[in-house]
Amino acid sequence: MKDLPNYFGCLVFNDKVMNQRLPKDIYKQLKKTIAEGKSLTIEVANAVANAMKDWAVEHGVTHYTHWFQPMTNITAEKHDSFISPTNDGGVIMEFSGKELIKGEPDASSFPSGGLRSTFEARGYTAWDPTSYAFIKDGILCIPTAFCSYTGEALDKKTPLLRSMEAINTQALRILKLFGRDDAKKVTSTVGPEQEYFLVDKKMFEARTDLILTGRTLVGARTPKGQELEDHYFGVVKPRVVAYMKELDEELWKLGIYAKTKHNEVAPAQHELAPIYTSTNIATDHNQLTMEMMKKVATKHGLACLLHEKPFAGVNGSGKHNNWSISTDTGYNLLEPGKDPYENAQFLLFLSAVIKAVDEYQDLLRISVASAGNDHRLGANEAPPAIVSMFLGDELTGILAAIEEGRNYSRRAKCEVEIGVHVLPKFSMDSTDRNRTSPFAFTGNKFEFRMPGSSFSIADINMILNTIIAEELCQFADELENAEDFQKSLKSIIIKTIKEHKRIIFNGNNYSEEWVKEAKKRGLLNLKSTVEALPYLTAEKNVKLFEKHGIFTETELHSREEILIENYSKIIHIESLTMTDILRKQILPAVMNNIKDLSASAASLKSLGIKFNYESLESLVSLYQDCEKATGELEKVVFEAENLGTGLEAAKYYKSSVIPAMEKVRLYADKLELKTGKKYWPFPTYEDLLFGVN
Ligand code: ADP
Ligand code: MG
Repeated sequence: MKDLPNYFGCLVFNDKVMNQRLPKDIYKQLKKTIAEGKSLTIEVANAVANAMKDWAVEHGVTHYTHWFQPMTNITAEKHDSFISPTNDGGVIMEFSGKELIKGEPDASSFPSGGLRSTFEARGYTAWDPTSYAFIKDGILCIPTAFCSYTGEALDKKTPLLRSMEAINTQALRILKLFGRDDAKKVTSTVGPEQEYFLVDKKMFEARTDLILTGRTLVGARTPKGQELEDHYFGVVKPRVVAYMKELDEELWKLGIYAKTKHNEVAPAQHELAPIYTSTNIATDHNQLTMEMMKKVATKHGLACLLHEKPFAGVNGSGKHNNWSISTDTGYNLLEPGKDPYENAQFLLFLSAVIKAVDEYQDLLRISVASAGNDHRLGANEAPPAIVSMFLGDELTGILAAIEEGRNYSRRAKCEVEIGVHVLPKFSMDSTDRNRTSPFAFTGNKFEFRMPGSSFSIADINMILNTIIAEELCQFADELENAEDFQKSLKSIIIKTIKEHKRIIFNGNNYSEEWVKEAKKRGLLNLKSTVEALPYLTAEKNVKLFEKHGIFTETELHSREEILIENYSKIIHIESLTMTDILRKQILPAVMNNIKDLSASAASLKSLGIKFNYESLESLVSLYQDCEKATGELEKVVFEAENLGTGLEAAKYYKSSVIPAMEKVRLYADKLELKTGKKYWPFPTYEDLLFGVN
């Protein structure tokens, strides 16, 4: 990687390539389309398609795909070759503007939440020119949005793009009020920190639970876990170093700004963070990053686990979503700034975020709800299920002073006048860090720490963009009609602090006291996915999404249906996998141990040697408890299967199937500790967590 700057993005049809390869006027028109979100003429599309094809063919590419993001957290692709028959029985390579702009995959097998019945299963994919095409596995991938024939969104990209439009519109209204006419576009930006585990591939393959569910369903704790705190930022092992190096290189080729890598808290856990970019592109890049993490692992004889909780007893994996908004003139709107004028604008944007997080706690909670993440949130390793925000002492102090109409003094010496015109000057104390907060202000951006490691960040940012757009819209409505701008501005800020300060909490979010305090403050505590999901279609949320053109009520209901169904499906798969492992692997293995122990006992007895049967008896009794618990699990799963796919079924999975699984696990883990190593049918936690060197 000697020539990284030239190598970077070599598999991307990016601006540089377009500038080189497209006729000047076509290039200009395309740029204009991208910048202003206008639709393309067919002439431009044809020229772009042809240049894209020529470029791809030079890279040995024979196929293209419309690359899209259905409601699954992963991406989808269907490959078509460029070949077109000629009269003489040969072929030429062709790719038209029409093929670039629009695809028509038969979409009947993607989740649609009842939006599309199979007889009208046509969907279409539409080119998203704001995210560059790229080459992956020898295929030209064209980022697209995926909709039903009647225009309903069937993917995660469409609503995300709609939400970016919403925040652009509303933020520009606010900027105009502050006289910032130079900004033509406001974009939300994201840098997602991605956590993951690496285990040996052979060991991974020996575990049905990891293969089928992505997490270990049984497994006793190891004598050593993460208690010595020796893994976080520790020296990376050689095999992992080689893996991380190749991963970086693959990501760089795809134009992904992979920047930071280090060991995380749990043994075998690591993190990768890219440099932030526009939300839309960051979302595509994060999907590609997760895919590459898995692919590169295989090449190194490793398996990459992206599940939120692959192992009990050590930390699970999250994805910290660092979010901000900035103008096309390069100005970060969450940067506190230096002069009071900038401060006032900053405080207004900050107020919008505070109000949004408080009023839409439910939506933020839903954006991170899944069966996998339920193991993590509130488990003393990740933020609790209660949404709150951290602003740090300085900013909280300033807000309190503004609310009470008194002077704010950071140090006794520097008193700051809070008048009508002048909001206080301040500098952020960047040492102020709170790792337990779900939503922390970190100097010039917010770090949302609840998302799970396997999530697409599309929904999370679609919700952030939308709720903040809504608050900016309300502020703009008021300020545009204000007789006295300064006065209204101040009153909006004070009102917001007064009404929404309950959402601000700078203390330890992992503590019991906070749970009680949050309840007193009337904050939501939606402990599990099943409790959270029904809020998606609450009246206020339907109104919000319809107002900003993100979802129609029908689309929103379909999303809720998909999420609920997905929850049940995951637990169904897990419970079947568990009973399978117990019946086919664990119970027979333990019986072998019992058989050998009994035979030894019998022969000792025949020799007249006294034998203490206690260990044998306790093993047999545990075996029986475990078998009984397995039978009970099978019974409740059968019950669950009869309940269909709606909320009732999801509730039953939560209240009956999960506890039955926990019981089986309790006995299975006890059995593991009492069974001889040579009998145990698959790699243990010790093998998995400490097996890569
Ligand atoms: P830490 O682990 O200390 O929180 P990292 O360096 O691992 O920090 O990650 C911080 C992330 O925040 C990076 O991806 C970084 O690019 C991103 N970030 C920085 N500034 C912004 C911004 N204005 N908007 C969005 N993300 C940002
Ligand atoms: Mg980090």
